[in-house]
Amino acid sequence: MSAFSAIGEEREHDRDEYTPGLEPQATWCPGCGDFGVLKALKGAAADLGKSPDEMLLVTGIGCSGKLNSYFESYGYHSIHGRSLPIARAAKLANPELTVVAAGGDGDGYGIGGNHFMHTARENHDLTYIVFDNEVFGLTKGQTSPTSPKGHKSKTQPHGSAKDPVRPLSLALTSGASYVARTAAVNPNQAQEILVEAIQHDGFAHVDFLTQCPTWNKDARQYVPYTDVNDSDEYDFDPADRGEASQMMQTAEDALYEGEVLTGRFYVEEGRPSYQQEKMAIGEMPEEPLAERYFDDDYEWERSYDRFLEKHK
Ligand code: SF4
Repeated sequence: MSAFSAIGEEREHDRDEYTPGLEPQATWCPGCGDFGVLKALKGAAADLGKSPDEMLLVTGIGCSGKLNSYFESYGYHSIHGRSLPIARAAKLANPELTVVAAGGDGDGYGIGGNHFMHTARENHDLTYIVFDNEVFGLTKGQTSPTSPKGHKSKTQPHGSAKDPVRPLSLALTSGASYVARTAAVNPNQAQEILVEAIQHDGFAHVDFLTQCPTWNKDARQYVPYTDVNDSDEYDFDPADRGEASQMMQTAEDALYEGEVLTGRFYVEEGRPSYQQEKMAIGEMPEEPLAERYFDDDYEWERSYDRFLEKHK
């Protein structure tokens, strides 16, 4: 099935279905790019026909971490930089679940950078959305891993002396099988990319440019944008690792020169996910752990009961 074949068809699910009753209104600052992620994710879930109870959204710490308060699904608001290990464990325990992890650029490329690298390398079957606004927003605008060199903040009043992380190239060299960049100012493309990323079998990394008008006054840098897959100016094959790598480097350089290049940069089909590799060598149980938990016959559950009894 084409990634976009569900778009435009009669839907079983509506975007509003993913608005929770408890916190229906997001409290991000006016103009924050995080609203764009929420809207795109709701649209993607509706396009894919996912029920809220078929999805798990795991978030880290930061303004982005509020996402699962505003998105109706199973949710886990984890600790700083640790959304990926939790998302991986959930997917291995319940392979039927559609698992999305999300966090900011500080959360994902800084504090959780090691998890990002190894989750990509192992090709876990989940989608990772990184809200990339080039600052630590929640803690009042400190320099982050993607802040451009020379960026001034309270922690770097004379300007950052460091070159920023290259998220797309990092994902590719680490082993991600799907790498894309989109922007909150481009909601249609963002929704299409999230549909494709969620459908992808393997680790899908989406670097989502999200302006922070409160702490990053260069917020308007994300417009205008160019979709590299649609532009006549760029001719590359996202299935070719070498061409994808070159295109990523061009996009990463361009971002700090005021040109925003978005789109699908690398798509590798047919590579087994971590779970499939484990199954092939006989290391995955036939019955998912999530189903075993409710079965009294399993020894490990009785052990768990004994553990609880001991620590009462
Ligand atoms: Fe958004 Fe920045 Fe406000 Fe956080 S501080 S909600 S990232 S605009």
